[in-house]
Amino acid sequence: MEQVDAVVIGAGVIGLAVGRALALAGREVMVLESENAIGTGTSSRNSEVIHAGIYYPAGSLKARLCVQGKAMLYAYCAERAVGHQRLGKLIVATSPDQVKALDGIIAKAAANGVQDLQKLTSEQARALEPALVCEAALLSPSTGVVDSHGLMLSLQGDLENAGGLLALVSPVQHIGLKQGTATHPIRVSTQDGTELACRVLVNAAGLSAVALAQRMDGLNKSLLPQAHCAKGNYFTLAVKAPFSRLIYPVPEKAGLGVHLTLDLGGQAKFGPDVQWVSDPADLQVDPRRGDAFYAEVRRYWPGLPDGALQPGYAGMRPKISGPDEAAADFMIQGPADHGVPGLVNLLGIESPGLTSSLAIAAHVNHLLQETV
Ligand SMILES: Cc1cc2nc3c(=O)[nH]c(=O)nc-3n(C[C@H](O)[C@H](O)[C@H](O)COP(=O)(O)OP(=O)(O)OC[C@H]3O[C@@H](n4cnc5c(N)ncnc54)[C@H](O)[C@@H]3O)c2cc1C
Repeated sequence: MEQVDAVVIGAGVIGLAVGRALALAGREVMVLESENAIGTGTSSRNSEVIHAGIYYPAGSLKARLCVQGKAMLYAYCAERAVGHQRLGKLIVATSPDQVKALDGIIAKAAANGVQDLQKLTSEQARALEPALVCEAALLSPSTGVVDSHGLMLSLQGDLENAGGLLALVSPVQHIGLKQGTATHPIRVSTQDGTELACRVLVNAAGLSAVALAQRMDGLNKSLLPQAHCAKGNYFTLAVKAPFSRLIYPVPEKAGLGVHLTLDLGGQAKFGPDVQWVSDPADLQVDPRRGDAFYAEVRRYWPGLPDGALQPGYAGMRPKISGPDEAAADFMIQGPADHGVPGLVNLLGIESPGLTSSLAIAAHVNHLLQETV
């Protein structure tokens, strides 16, 4: 059996960021990816927004790692010339009740260390975005967008420059936590029969992470959450968007509401909505869902022309809380949680996972330094 210090499962943005961090910390790293390219999962089916860290409960991993990750990501993108823009976003209140909610959002953000939100009257908001209709708004200047694929390519480059290896078309099938060698106790087997013994194993398999942990021989399964899937559908705008910032409604349900985001080329899309599904591979966008989008978007942009929305793409949120439960935090289970030295399971890494990727990687590296 071949021996390697650290194996990372999954080459999405999280697996690549973790692999890079472990390689830069001096470990011998192999990243195993089941597909034939990096970033074909959730990491290429999202809004590409660098979130400010506004909505998450104070003290949660989402709050902490998003705010930390945002600063790390802006610095990294600037240093490595990864495409990004600090566009800013407006959170728009379209009813008196939502106006009241804005103060709560300011307080929540402040508790997370996000102190730069500015409250705007409807006139001030319209001075920034003339096509907008709202009763009041918040401006978040530190929200931006990033070229997620450019980011992943850069992370892969760093991983490889630091001596790490990426193996594509290498689906991990079996993991035995005490079935390796005396020095490298974890055994990882891939579909083609390759067997690796490692000291460190990081499960960054995204939508498959809970199922993979369920299959680990020697892990206490009572700690694992139940996996759920919430699809997020996007509709693209066929005309030029009259906005230069991201526009978000005040969040009301499981997602952040049907918002407008712009890519680095200025192309606008609306979404994601929230559609609970049972099959993680169900990524078709049902054009009929567009009807609800028109109604939601016209609350803040009444000028949205008929027929301007076209079905775009969908992403799948790797949820670990169900439709009727409070949103779960990221679940990062390290040796102190499950008692297995060298193992970290990354579960429920939904939004703001992209923003938090570098901070999650630093956190994982820290958890592992404490044990192996
Ligand atoms: C609709 C939507 C919108 C979002 N918008 C944003 C946003 O604007 N900003 C933000 O910060 N975050 C956003 N997110 C969250 C962000 O996209 C994710 O947190 C992040 O991409 C998760 O990355 P990952 O590497 O964990 O998962 P993935 O990208 O899914 O990568 C997991 C990888 O593991 C591989 N894999 C699975 N099983 C195995 C196996 N057995 N062996 C080997 N490889 C395996 C998969 O092929 C895949 O490549 C959004 C998410 C969704 C769904």
